[in-house]
Amino acid sequence: MAPIPKAMFGVVIPRPGGPDVLEYKTDLPVPSLGDGQILVRNEYIGINYIDTYFRTGLYKPPSPSSKSNHPSTSANDASSPYPLITGKEAAGTITASTHPSYPVDSRVVYLADATYAQYTLLSSPTTQASILPASLTPEVACAAYLQGLTALTFIREAAGIHQQLGISEGPWTLVHAAAGGTGSMLVQILAVMGAKIIATAGGRQKCELAKKLGAGWVVDSSLPQEEVIRQIKEITSGKGVDVIFDGVGKATFGTVDLDVVARKGTIIVFGNASGAVEPVDLFRLMPKNIKIMRPSMPGYITTPEEREGFTTELFDLLVTGKIHANIHHVYPLKDVAQAHIDLESRKTTGKLLLKVE
Ligand code: NDP
Repeated sequence: MAPIPKAMFGVVIPRPGGPDVLEYKTDLPVPSLGDGQILVRNEYIGINYIDTYFRTGLYKPPSPSSKSNHPSTSANDASSPYPLITGKEAAGTITASTHPSYPVDSRVVYLADATYAQYTLLSSPTTQASILPASLTPEVACAAYLQGLTALTFIREAAGIHQQLGISEGPWTLVHAAAGGTGSMLVQILAVMGAKIIATAGGRQKCELAKKLGAGWVVDSSLPQEEVIRQIKEITSGKGVDVIFDGVGKATFGTVDLDVVARKGTIIVFGNASGAVEPVDLFRLMPKNIKIMRPSMPGYITTPEEREGFTTELFDLLVTGKIHANIHHVYPLKDVAQAHIDLESRKTTGKLLLKVE
């Protein structure tokens, strides 16, 4: 077991703001271990769009009392969530444990708060962490975990697509931002399921990538919106799309989605990359008897059994080569601001990782 230092490095957000508020520190306190907990020395940290929502203040940070890695000192206002260590996903090695199922030196991938740091404390490992099989590296596991679980739970639980279908009878699905991290997981898993996939992505290169990942049809979302709508309707011979996966939000929901969704179709809005969706007039659902969902992935894996079930399926898809993690770039932890700038400026495809040196 490696010795645990008293201080660690990590990235702190002192107040909400742009990427410039992300502050690399080398003197953060290492969290101390309680009963049934584990301390993980992070090797790779996943960047997810949600990290930008906590940085800007679109999402309210958790209160200090519920945060395991809160960097406050007695000089700080104890009721303020700032300074905040953000980040929701990482992979590394357990360096200390009081949980019998999670021995020291095991390699894990996990979901938790405060992952932009050298060490993260997990207070409920059975609902947060999965021990890695020998065939999965921490880098690949970290690149696939949060976004893969999002795709898998939304396909199974939100869309209700369960069985392996033949391509002719599979539902029409539409994945927005299909070359992005979550989008590329959705496309790959839907392809394994035999769904008919229409992907939208911004620009020719991203559209080509979506096609390689398994989309049968691609539409360039940088075209005028009327043209995007026209192409989607033409692809489905006027029927419309049965299930829409929309992580773009404001720019697509009220315009594209409500127009191209089929009668009795489902729109799954799950993100705010272009801004949060405005409140909806329920009468807009009536003409086509459509369903709207606004799911959150953690809400589908709240029990150890749910985490275990979905993780087993995800790991199996990865180790059998049916899907793969598409890593855009690995940034050193101290370059986290650049990673946020790249993600928000739509320059990236696939997954962005931070490496803890
Ligand atoms: P991505 O890698 O998909 O990056 C975001 C992509 O969104 C961009 O590459 C871009 O693709 C597209 N986009 C469209 N409009 C904008 C805009 N105005 N500004 C920036 N990007 C835009 O990120 P993630 O995979 O991390 O997340 C995708 C979405 O899924 C986010 O909204 C995120 O919050 C959501 N999410 C929700 C979860 C949940 O539990 N509800 C869990 C995981 C993710 P293009 O250029 O092709 O349009």
